[in-house]
Amino acid sequence: MLEEGGRFLGCALSSSSSQIALRMISDRECDESELPALVATRVKNAIEYRNALRILDQSNAYRLVFSEADRLPGLIVDRYNDVLAFQVLTQAMDRKEVRDAILETLETEIHPAGIIERVEERIRELEELPAIEGGLIRGNKTRTIIEMSPNQDQSPLRFEYDAAAGQKTGAFLDQRENYAAAQRYAHGSALDVFCYQGGFALHLARVCSQVIGVDASLAALEAGERNFELNRSSLVAPEIEWLEANAFDLLRDWSDTGRRFQTIVLDPPAFAKTKKALSTARRGYKELNLRALKMLEPGGLLVTCSCSHHVSQEEFLGMLAESARDARRRIRLLEVRGQSQDHPVVAGIPETAYLKCVIAYIE
Ligand code: SAH
Repeated sequence: MLEEGGRFLGCALSSSSSQIALRMISDRECDESELPALVATRVKNAIEYRNALRILDQSNAYRLVFSEADRLPGLIVDRYNDVLAFQVLTQAMDRKEVRDAILETLETEIHPAGIIERVEERIRELEELPAIEGGLIRGNKTRTIIEMSPNQDQSPLRFEYDAAAGQKTGAFLDQRENYAAAQRYAHGSALDVFCYQGGFALHLARVCSQVIGVDASLAALEAGERNFELNRSSLVAPEIEWLEANAFDLLRDWSDTGRRFQTIVLDPPAFAKTKKALSTARRGYKELNLRALKMLEPGGLLVTCSCSHHVSQEEFLGMLAESARDARRRIRLLEVRGQSQDHPVVAGIPETAYLKCVIAYIE
């Protein structure tokens, strides 16, 4: 690949069908036949990076390979204790010799009991890749228990992981450090909105007397209850109430009828999947945050997230300030956070930073 003016820039993987025609893989000259070896080295580097950060001290579930952030465009690998989830998103990574090199490196370096292939049909279609079935591709294990240690003085929290049953991402590993941060400030009665399988709710239950988790997916709430049972003996809250509901309707009703909480978490799905959807997304975030702010007691805590990378941190903070003004509340920003360190953010590649998580104190 050459820069304008002819200077050598590096080499890239190309796709004949994607809107992203080229994805940089190296700043050196490379030969196509070297791709499997290059990818294997990069996978080892990605593993070494997580080891250097001692992520394992915090959790045995984390992202091992994060696409461009690990100079492996189109490859995602998550580790759930002894089970790995593997996903290829591009033509180059789907080549047989490249896949084999990746899988072999993962087996030698991590010795998993199972490797699952995760498939998003839509992405494979867009990339013009042949349709395949997801599922177990190496070993024999698809279910396991993962652990997260929000602080070192307490026993870890445990969560089930079931590759066959989860939504497309399995668990939300990018929020792990934010769960721990939320736990540091949370108190009183807590509401976890868009709770999925209880990532925040379980952490809140370590410090809050009452916890309610809200989600539209009954299957996710059932997994949440099983997670509660796995951790019951180490929790302060005697139970977690799981509510299957549309979060928008529920927050409107509860804020209108004067329900109050000391801690509220908002972690909605990506509203802005495309740039076009931005203004609808903005209205969605505003509505949720406005309602939550009305429901928080003075001295309360708001943990509010956005995983849409089209919504910048600046825009998100702007939306929050506007919501606070409309709710007639003054809020203090305790922490402006992003994704866990196993999802590296690379300077110069803005797409690698996508998660926003603001922790605010309500005056
Ligand atoms: N906080 C979770 C992740 C949330 S992902 C964690 O840390 O694990 C977003 C969740 O929002 C999904 O579980 C999805 O089922 C739920 N969801 C999407 N639209 C919803 C709606 N309108 N009302 C309630 N839940 C919704």
